Amino acid sequence: MSGSVRVGVVGTGMIGQDHIRRITQVLSGADVTAVTDLSADLAQQVAAGLKDATVHATGQDVIGNENVDAVLVTSWGPTHEEYVLAGIAAGKPVFCEKPLATTQRACRNIIDAEVAAGRRLVQVGFMRRYDDAYRGLKNVIEAGTIGAPLMYYSGHRNPGVPDSYTTDMAIVDTAVHDFDVARWLLAEEFTGVQVLAPRRNRHGGDLQDPLLMILETTSGVLVSVETSVNIRYGYDIRGEVVGEDGTAALADRGQVVLRRGGTASGAVPQDWRERFIDAYDSELQDWINAVSAGAGATGPSSWDGYAAQVVCDAAVDALHSGERVAVDLIEKPAIYAGGQHP
Ligand code: NAP
Repeated sequence: MSGSVRVGVVGTGMIGQDHIRRITQVLSGADVTAVTDLSADLAQQVAAGLKDATVHATGQDVIGNENVDAVLVTSWGPTHEEYVLAGIAAGKPVFCEKPLATTQRACRNIIDAEVAAGRRLVQVGFMRRYDDAYRGLKNVIEAGTIGAPLMYYSGHRNPGVPDSYTTDMAIVDTAVHDFDVARWLLAEEFTGVQVLAPRRNRHGGDLQDPLLMILETTSGVLVSVETSVNIRYGYDIRGEVVGEDGTAALADRGQVVLRRGGTASGAVPQDWRERFIDAYDSELQDWINAVSAGAGATGPSSWDGYAAQVVCDAAVDALHSGERVAVDLIEKPAIYAGGQHP
């Protein structure tokens, strides 16, 4: 493709605006040329801050627009399937924020459409794969420095959540990132999940918070995922692999340790934007580069979006039943083989 990638944005809410900011102010090789939102006023307001973006009534109008080469889907999760399918039908690469879709059936419809198109056109917004600390951890695992991985612990801690947050959201909105990054780090799929509910945090009201999930992979690695979403002290992302010969843990991002007055301390990020700001930049630049090179998409795939949805559904069932629930995936189509995917 010659010149800048012309991006159409479906959904100009919080993350849509943040991605527009990075495309127009931080990254290179792309412009935003068309936007839409359920709120026409919001779309107008966002477009007013852009050089030459047109405002459209629907996502379908944006995707079909002749000034749009590629589509950024940042609307509500339940609307993703429709817009991702429309992008594939138009032969336009799509960056879809997680979730790829909110049901396994919808994810499979997207996979079927991509397979029929004969190539990958979709990247899903699993940005942790672009974080330096996670990349370092993956390099250590792949180099064999600590031997074969046996266990992996993934901690996901938020200072607090809005009143609208439900216990299921701790799985489908929060732990979904831990599921994806564990699949990617270990280059394996999950086979089953149990969810344990410890004593509740008094700050969580009716929420079952924290949760402890135990997942198994195909080779027998045990993965524990902790969600603590009312932990007050900060947004803290932990990860540690126990291998045969040693352990490897995520380093804190850009950390300075201060020693003063008899204590040693370091700052903890206050939210996910601060913790993963570089990873969001890097995932979107990677997508722009792939689109520019005519590669369609190279990052986290529709398969990854589907696999994450299957794990989330199983974990929600396990939460409500108290039982171990199997993770059953369909056979992986050949277009998703290789690359950075398990
Ligand atoms: P948000 O602030 O509510 O923004 C979503 C926007 O999409 C809203 O303005 C909404 O309009 C609009 N919208 C809904 N349905 C639409 C449709 N059919 N066509 C056009 N616009 C539509 O939500 P958000 O926090 O930005 O989240 C958006 C997506 O990004 C979600 O899937 C979320 O899970 C994902 N996300 C991912 C990460 C990450 O870490 N990767 C972080 C944050 C969000 P109304 O408000 O008028 O309904």
